[in-house]
This record gives sequence, structure tokens and C-alpha cells, in this order.
Amino acid sequence: MSLKFGRSYLAIPGPSVVPDRVLNAMHSASPNIYDGPLIDMVDTLYPDLTAVARTAGEVAIYIGNGHAAWEASLSNMFSRGDQVLVPATGSFGLGWAQAAEGLGIQAQVLDFGKQGTFDLAQVEAALRKDKTHKIKAVLATHTDTATSVRNDIKALRDCIDASRHPALLMVDCIASLGCDRFEMDAWGVDVMIAACQKGFMLPPGMCFVYFNEKADTQHAQADLVTPYWNWTPRTKGAELFQKFCGTAPTHHLLGLRVSLDMLLHEEGLENVWARHGILAQAVWAAVDAWGAGGAVAMNIADSSLRSTAVTTVRMDPPMATNLRAWVEDNTGVTLGISLGMADADDPAWHGYFRIAHMGHVNTHMTLGALGAIEAGLQALDIPHGSGALAAAAKVVSQA
Ligand SMILES: *Cc1c(COP(=O)(O)O)cnc(C)c1O
Repeated sequence: MSLKFGRSYLAIPGPSVVPDRVLNAMHSASPNIYDGPLIDMVDTLYPDLTAVARTAGEVAIYIGNGHAAWEASLSNMFSRGDQVLVPATGSFGLGWAQAAEGLGIQAQVLDFGKQGTFDLAQVEAALRKDKTHKIKAVLATHTDTATSVRNDIKALRDCIDASRHPALLMVDCIASLGCDRFEMDAWGVDVMIAACQKGFMLPPGMCFVYFNEKADTQHAQADLVTPYWNWTPRTKGAELFQKFCGTAPTHHLLGLRVSLDMLLHEEGLENVWARHGILAQAVWAAVDAWGAGGAVAMNIADSSLRSTAVTTVRMDPPMATNLRAWVEDNTGVTLGISLGMADADDPAWHGYFRIAHMGHVNTHMTLGALGAIEAGLQALDIPHGSGALAAAAKVVSQA
């Protein structure tokens, strides 16, 4: 019989779980957008948003999802025909490159596959080869949500510097901001993008483009800037309608105020990062234990390269799809699908699933999701090692 009736848990890497407090804050009559408390409240969001990114730079807020952030960042930075270098480690890196191509920017992709990180020697070689400095920026993904690799952004910055190339560094932190440590200024990142439905724990619908002075200087020459995407009125405009190029996303902003309070002023960013780290290790311990006796394995073998927000798991196809379906139908937990690991019509597509441990999650949720997977492995007679739940509990007990 199905035991799914009860509170469901969407354990996919975005949209993430929305805290009841955020939902309650959004459950409000429409606020006045011309006068009154909303105007003052919105001013408080900017310093907190930049604090989450550890930057003294600026942040523009847009109504839109992660794809909107891709396009916003590109149109603010480039002119038609400009070149960018994209070291890609999964489908999200490739997606940003495609967005650039779609705008008439030439994207040179270095594809490093689906199971690891960048080869910095190749990045450096590509930059050194560009003697006339045609490459305007390097576009990188911090966490590629498809493979669950977490790339070392500081090392990438050091690599750009070592190659004596002036390219700016732009980073997609949509799956990592508010989950994994990210230090925009200390790591030398010029532009960073995020969206509200992952670490910020909001429903999808708002995204953020962060930038520093160097990026703003390049922006002044960019011919792809359009009135809607232009980050200048959004960061310098005095009126609310300028900050949003029209009506503000009122209820999302009310929710964001609460999520920023939770992240920065209640739990604290260091604790947020540590919590994600420990829950991730609990998941990895379980996957390792399952893998010791069967066909279950981590997609990213090197633990120092793993996201703490999402874990991609490999199984012999079609077991991963069968397991996901069983878990959803019988336990109320929804796991993430295979994304970009194989074409959807390729049988290999059914060999991956993803466990999110992103945002508003704590011990009982992650251990519960692991318990649901354990039950699925048993119910479907999928060969697996024992002791996974004990191993995960041990990680938590020692934290
Ligand atoms: C989720 C995600 C995106 C895309 O966001 P959408 O809201 O689906 O457009 C882009 N990059 C990364 C790293 C992501 O995790």
C-alpha cells in the first residue's frame, strides 16, 4: 500500500522547500508600491543580499528565473560579437554558453564532461592563446546542479591571473548561494548570478545579478544592454519602479525579507554552510554504504569536488527511474531526475537520480529522504549494501 499521504517533501534541487514563515509573510494583502513600508523594506534587502554573497559590490533584482539571470548578466556585459570562454562541467555551464550564443556572443566552450571539474591547465592554455585579448570574460558554474560537481572558483580566478589575461570572471551561483561557501570579493569574481528558488528558499520568480566596479566599467561599453535588463536603474534608481523596471514583485520581496533574516540574522551564514556540509556528508555516507554492495555510486567520486546542496547518484539503468517513481508513489518524497547526463530518449538517462539537500532542510528531512530511498531499494530488490542509514545517522551524531 502507498504510505505517501502526509506532508510531501520535494527533495529536488530547485524549487526548494519554502519555509512556512516565508509563505506566511507572502500571504498578505497587496502592499502599496508608491508609498509606505514596502519602500523602506526593499531598501533593507540590498545590503543583506550583498552580505550573503560576501561582496561590497552591487546587486540588481529581476523578476525571472535562473535563465533570466543568465540573459540579464550577459546583456549587461557584452556587445554582439564579443567572445567569452566557458569551462563547462555539466548542462548548466553549457546552458549559459547557449544563452550567450543566442544573444550573438561567441562562446568558446571547454567541455570537461559530466563527472568532474575543470582542467585549469586547459583554461590557462586557452587564455594564453588569446594574445589580443578578444575573450572578454570567463563564464563558470560554481555548482553544476546536473552533475553535482562544485568547482573551485578561487582556483579559476588564480588561473586567469596566472595567464596574465584581463578577462573578467562571471559565476553562476544559482545552486550554491546560501548553501555552499561563496566569497565573491575574496575570490575575485566580477559578476555573479543567483535565483530565489534554491538557497534563498522562495518560490521561483526572482533572480539576482551581482557586479563589481570592473564589471560596471565594461557594462558602460556593452551594446547588448536593453532598457529592461539594464542594471543601472535597478541599482541606482531612487524609485521602486526604477529598481524593477515596472511593478515590483511585491510578495516575493516580502518573502525574501524573511528568508534573509533566517539566513543572516538567525542561523548565520557560517552555520548555514556548515549545516549543508553535514547533511551532504550524511547523504554521501549512505550512498557509499549502498554502493558497497551493489549498483549505486556517487557521480562525483572526489568528495572535495562535491556540492553540499545536491548529490547526483548513478545506478544501472533503468533502476534510478524505477527507484524515483517508487519513492514518490510510496513515501511522499520526490527525488530529482537525471538532468543532462544522457539524452532523455537514451536508456542511460534512467541511470541517474539526484537528492537535494538544499535550503530549508534539516536532519529529519535528509534522514527521512534517505530512509525512503532505502525502502525503495528493498522493495524493488535493487542490490545494495547495508548500513546506509546507520552511516548517515553517525555523521549527524558526530557533527
Ligand atoms: C537551477 C539552475 C539554473 C536554471 O534556473 P531556472 O530557474 O530553471 O531557469 C541555472 N544554473 C544553475 C547552476 C542552476 O542550478
